[in-house]
Amino acid sequence: MPKEVAAGERRVALVPSVVSKLTEGGFDVVVEAGAGAEAGYPDAQYGEAGAKTVTAAELFGGADGVLKVREPGQGAGGDELEQMREGAVLIGFLQPLTNTDLVKRLVDRRITSFGMEVIPRTTRAQSMDALSSQAVAAGYRGTLAAAESLGKFFPMLITAAGTAAPARVLVLGAGVAGLQAIATARRLGAVVEAYDVRPAVKEEVESLGAKFVQIEVKQEGEGSGSGEYAKELPEETQRKQRELLADRVARADCVITTAAVPGRPAPKLVTEDMVSAMQPGSVIVDLAAETGGNCDLTEPDQIVERHGVTIDGRLNLPSRMPYHASLLYANNVANLLTHLAPEGQLNLDFEDEITAGACITHEGRIVNERVRETIEGAVSA
Ligand code: NAD
Repeated sequence: MPKEVAAGERRVALVPSVVSKLTEGGFDVVVEAGAGAEAGYPDAQYGEAGAKTVTAAELFGGADGVLKVREPGQGAGGDELEQMREGAVLIGFLQPLTNTDLVKRLVDRRITSFGMEVIPRTTRAQSMDALSSQAVAAGYRGTLAAAESLGKFFPMLITAAGTAAPARVLVLGAGVAGLQAIATARRLGAVVEAYDVRPAVKEEVESLGAKFVQIEVKQEGEGSGSGEYAKELPEETQRKQRELLADRVARADCVITTAAVPGRPAPKLVTEDMVSAMQPGSVIVDLAAETGGNCDLTEPDQIVERHGVTIDGRLNLPSRMPYHASLLYANNVANLLTHLAPEGQLNLDFEDEITAGACITHEGRIVNERVRETIEGAVSA
């Protein structure tokens, strides 16, 4: 497990408690010196858990498998991918559907690579679902960011010096991150409303103590009422959706947006007109900034003020709470690794849907079907 090299990345792929499980399970674990320091895990703790501390060059040159959070980059010992042994295993968030160059290099270097984001999201693979574990961290951290920017208390406070009304929080998109945002805002005492294009989440929203905003924009076959994932809505339906959301947004002190459609740009739910109708001092935290943002005025990785409203589009919120984000991620990675290599011995069964779905490249070819189609499409276009 090397130190992450992506700018601003403080998470790591293994934490000491998970190292113990892996060493007990038959793996030899080596960790780059200082790798976990920024996440709150000093080298000594990895040592106590049974890992050996090495330099980056020793690690990449010697390991049969490299566990990362983000894609390989330029590390202390040079290009990480170039240093890896041919045929070695690489696991991480590798963005295989958009990072065509990386996929080609993984093929050329004959790396057996697994993408955490392409693990099938089935019940069997739930313990490996890093999209969900990191969305939990993002939803929580995003809500704290909203509370910090807002000049109001979240809870109702009755004091000798006067009474403060509770903050009104609107959460748009009630998937994993949105539900955690709702739960966090509720714990802080805010009055919370939430909306999702999938009416199936109404019960979950209500069980967290929030009100579900019911707006009828669904047309047949759109917006996924029954399936698990939302589909992109036609532009006319999106326009209607924005109209119906406008007065909810105007009345909210904080809007936390998390709406996403897998593989597509984030739906635009909050327009400039809607922002300008909000009270000055209000806050929007846009957790969809990574895929373009749910608000028209979001600037990825920036906090900006527009029409008196703070719009927070900071990226990679899980890295802002690296201790627990790393712990959850490490469990996801270790569960995948143990699935691929029971008792520490790699044993790949491509008939298995988790292995076949998560595998990006193996022995110089692309395994994941969607990745192969995307890359072939990009080459022929
Ligand atoms: P996501 O990050 O892709 O999307 C977040 C939310 O945005 C979703 O709830 C989606 O419905 C919503 N959304 C999309 N377009 C919208 C629009 N125009 N307006 C309002 N909302 C919109 O989703 P996610 O959080 O990664 O997962 C979504 C759901 O998938 C989960 O809530 C869960 O039910 C299911 N899931 C299942 C498993 C499993 O079975 N192992 C694992 C993870 C997630």
